[in-house]
Amino acid sequence: MSRSHSTSTPTALAKRAQRFEELKRNLDQLEYFCKGTVLKRMTKCGKAYCACRSDPNKRHGPYFELTYKVEGKTVNVRLSPEAAPLYRAASAQFRKLKTTLQKLEKISQAVLKLQAKIAQSK
Ligand SMILES: [Zn+2]
Repeated sequence: MSRSHSTSTPTALAKRAQRFEELKRNLDQLEYFCKGTVLKRMTKCGKAYCACRSDPNKRHGPYFELTYKVEGKTVNVRLSPEAAPLYRAASAQFRKLKTTLQKLEKISQAVLKLQAKIAQSK
């Protein structure tokens, strides 16, 4: 016998509902987050007599920056060496959050489609 949609759809729904709940639980572990990337920079000061001019190993730094975009423009915020790991962790949190949201959205779209189909067939 061929499997009709009426038997496979509830299974598909249940599977997705379960995955949705799992992903939602990941959000319980969410820590403070921020968008952007933490960059570590070594710089040249531009002074003619300074060793940084010719020797890459004698450049100044490291300096840390948080860089992100606002309306297409890049914003750089200087961070202290102590703040850098905090922001690095926060930006990793943000990336994780975005990935989780994308997955939740994908499941939502699939479920909504199925639910719409069920609603139509009633
Ligand atoms: Zn210098």
